[in-house]
Amino acid sequence: MRKKIVAGNWKMNTTVAEGVELAKAVAAKSVEVPAGVDLVVAPPFTHLVCVADALKGSKVALSAQNCADHEKGAYTGEVAVNMLTSVGCEYTILGHSERRQYYGETDEKLVVKTKLALEAGIKVILCVGENLDEREAGKHFEVVKNQTEAVLYTLTAEQLKSIVVAYEPVWAIGTGKTATAAQAEEIHACIRKVIAAKFGEEAAEEVTILYGGSCKPSNAKELFAEKDIDGGLIGGAALKADDFIQIALSF
Ligand code: PEP
Repeated sequence: MRKKIVAGNWKMNTTVAEGVELAKAVAAKSVEVPAGVDLVVAPPFTHLVCVADALKGSKVALSAQNCADHEKGAYTGEVAVNMLTSVGCEYTILGHSERRQYYGETDEKLVVKTKLALEAGIKVILCVGENLDEREAGKHFEVVKNQTEAVLYTLTAEQLKSIVVAYEPVWAIGTGKTATAAQAEEIHACIRKVIAAKFGEEAAEEVTILYGGSCKPSNAKELFAEKDIDGGLIGGAALKADDFIQIALSF
């Protein structure tokens, strides 16, 4: 049985004090969430140490939002994977569309980052998804297939076990426009097929695939009811503990 996960991407929001307060609220409410659903929060780098402390003793795991593509050294402003493990990160998000769009994150860089993270024992939430032009041109399957293959096909079957894929149609992120459950499901099923083509059906069945893009308490149930949607990567709604937990209760 593959894992169900609800992960919160806080992006560049909250001060450290606000982040700690949010983490404490999520940790306190996490007792309501059934054992079969894992919770993850991804605060900004500056918050990781304090948020790790706030989450101690709870079922909520800590994630980074990115990591460096080098192990260490003269890379001003970057954060290496061993720094993430040293503060208790279990996951890192990689390839978020905002990083692909604004910070030149290429598939080639993502391969390097993914391998560094996995070698350090950090699980990767790999984001893929098409933008509006690509969807309107009918290229969404092709774009998602290419992004998925570019990173996952460089991994071993063992490494695949530490990968979570997040399908995030760029046109649905922070816009209030959610993909319909049917639109999301057909892409999730396609991602699973792409994984199966390289690693086999059985391995593909074990990969958790999250949906992200204006997921909120009012639409999570419908999305999570789909066969290949195993949870959500949540942006805006993850900044309110009640909404975040409500989403995690939507399976
Ligand atoms: C995200 O950026 O990962 C995301 C899903 O954002 P939102 O939920 O705000 O659309």
